[in-house]
Amino acid sequence: MDFIDLKSQYAALRDNINARIQRVLDHGQYIMGPEVAEMEAALAAYTGAAHCISVASGTEALLICLMALGLEPGDEVITSPFTFAATAEMIVLAGGVPVFVDIEPDTANLDARLIEAAITPRTRAIMPVSLYGQVADMDAINAIAARHGLPVIEDAAQSFGATYQGRRSCNLSTFGCTSFFPSKPLGCYGDGGAIFTSDTTLAQACREIRVHGQSQRYLHTRLGVGGRMDTLQCAVVLGKLDRFGWEIERRLALGDAYRTKLQAAVPNLQLLAVRPDRDCVWAQYTVFVDDREAVQAQLKAAGIPTAVHYPRPLHHQPAYARFAPSDACPQAVSAAARVMSLPMSADLTEAQQDEVVAALARALG
Ligand SMILES: *Cc1c(COP(=O)(O)O)cnc(C)c1O
Repeated sequence: MDFIDLKSQYAALRDNINARIQRVLDHGQYIMGPEVAEMEAALAAYTGAAHCISVASGTEALLICLMALGLEPGDEVITSPFTFAATAEMIVLAGGVPVFVDIEPDTANLDARLIEAAITPRTRAIMPVSLYGQVADMDAINAIAARHGLPVIEDAAQSFGATYQGRRSCNLSTFGCTSFFPSKPLGCYGDGGAIFTSDTTLAQACREIRVHGQSQRYLHTRLGVGGRMDTLQCAVVLGKLDRFGWEIERRLALGDAYRTKLQAAVPNLQLLAVRPDRDCVWAQYTVFVDDREAVQAQLKAAGIPTAVHYPRPLHHQPAYARFAPSDACPQAVSAAARVMSLPMSADLTEAQQDEVVAALARALG
């Protein structure tokens, strides 16, 4: 069993993806070819955001947003310590200081109730992470941000396709940033990402930063990066969009089925909470276990792959330890010790899911 089954997806979409790739090879516009604008228009329409700016990766999306906001050395950005490193990494790379605010123990998302106490005169942005595919308390976060005149950047690398109060992830705040890394809910066959915003000025800034700060060819009006997403990868995303609606439905159904089956087979297992006003597209199907290594070993012996997202909170990583004392954010510390992700993808079968549940019941029973 694959942890994430990309082979079945390709088998289902093969003709469509191959034809789209072939078209790029035939027209030869490998950089900023017509598929780039076509994908941006399709994804903007899907999320409801006015602008989509495709970029080289989810990491680059975060960096470009921070550059567009004009982050200056020492500016603080409030974020979660329980995320992939890129979130805090780009804050530091842009010259900022990540200010880690603890997570909710049941959703593992940034705890909005703790944000206001972390705001200082140097705070320049709030960057919640939609971890595992569920958006954080965006209404509360946006309200705090509005009170303090701060922009909000949603790190939506894991949540493309998720909804929050009927609106799509990536269209909930100043910026939404997603990733098309192959294993994300909407993946390409390499690196790719996108920025979403409905602010036309910021969108223009992002477009310029993406190509070395050029406002026109060879006129570099600001500092930028080489941050484009290539045409072939946009063609792959377009090839996957035909089935994406089905895949999201399938992910939601598999998430529900995991919950029902696990509650029946392993009643004491702590599952991730999903708030009633939103859904989770389960970029990872993550549960909380004690004695994780032993459980993982038993599952591995039964042929069930698992992973840990993430084994250390960022303030326990050598590169970020200077930004918070090690006893800060106790909920993130606790979650990092206990989270374990189970096989999940739109093509996971019911039979495979039953196998995972049975193996986990044996390991914990
Ligand atoms: C994957 C991921 C990123 C980085 O995306 P890349 O496309 O791999 O650069 C950033 N933040 C989170 C939360 C992620 O899961």
